[in-house]
Amino acid sequence: MDKTDAVVLRVVEYSETSLVVTLYTRQFGKLAAIAKGARRPKSPFEGALDLLSVCDVVLIRKPADQLAILTEAKLVRRFRGGENQAWSRSARLARLHGAFYLVELLRRLVEDGQGQENLFELLLATIARIEGRADLLATILYFEVQALKLLGHAPRTQSCVCCGRWRSAGDPALPSALHATEETAQHPGKQRKRLCITSASSVSEAADVFRTTAPNNFLNSKKQITFGLLSIGVLCDTCTPSERNAMLIRPETLALLDRFMQANGPLPDSEIQGAIVELRSLIRRILEGLLGQSLRLGCYVPVALQQ
Ligand SMILES: [Zn+2]
Repeated sequence: MDKTDAVVLRVVEYSETSLVVTLYTRQFGKLAAIAKGARRPKSPFEGALDLLSVCDVVLIRKPADQLAILTEAKLVRRFRGGENQAWSRSARLARLHGAFYLVELLRRLVEDGQGQENLFELLLATIARIEGRADLLATILYFEVQALKLLGHAPRTQSCVCCGRWRSAGDPALPSALHATEETAQHPGKQRKRLCITSASSVSEAADVFRTTAPNNFLNSKKQITFGLLSIGVLCDTCTPSERNAMLIRPETLALLDRFMQANGPLPDSEIQGAIVELRSLIRRILEGLLGQSLRLGCYVPVALQQ
């Protein structure tokens, strides 16, 4: 038997007395488990199995294609969706929808048996922020960007995701071969297209340029930037035609995305006003590209700031 803490992502009635629950656990990632007797009046689960409840659970794990058996669940914290706060009904509803959207996102983005402790911690912190006073939109955006990062899909914001060059074809370029080697070493599991092959002599020339000039990266751009939605990163002028699903974004939007990736928590509303709508739209399209379909609850998440 294994003990861990978990967040309840889904509850389905299975029989007259049992439930099947999907849990995101600290130790074992996402898994589905049967809770026998959970629908009886005096159940061993003490009403712990509600959507977004945080509980301590005891379970017997099974191979990935079988349901685990949940033997115990003790409620640590019930999700209240900000009902104790003095918000308007519509603001409370937006928070509820925001939380349900996160659940849908995790259920679809993470396979059963996968997951990691950092993502569990991020989920706990995000639930607390939604129930607390944090800005809803910034909280959701922060979760989305950090979840992409933790699951190995970090958006590339500084150099071309395809060839590793900095900005457009005419600008001083970082040697793509050197850059590709470094990138592959950092992310060995990543499969990203690299179309531009640099010869040995041009690598050394480019290396000289790079040593003598400051990196001229996409974050310094003054014009609109092409963002590849399938390769998940900025594209130089040369590589733009190779991506069939791309979006033009403003430099401010890219800069805000970069800040969300580096930040230790959601940025305050006052700092994100200018580019938030376009960034939300970019993130939504990246997620839909990864999942191959749209997120059902995505449309309930506010696209502009409100409280
Ligand atoms: Zn390129």
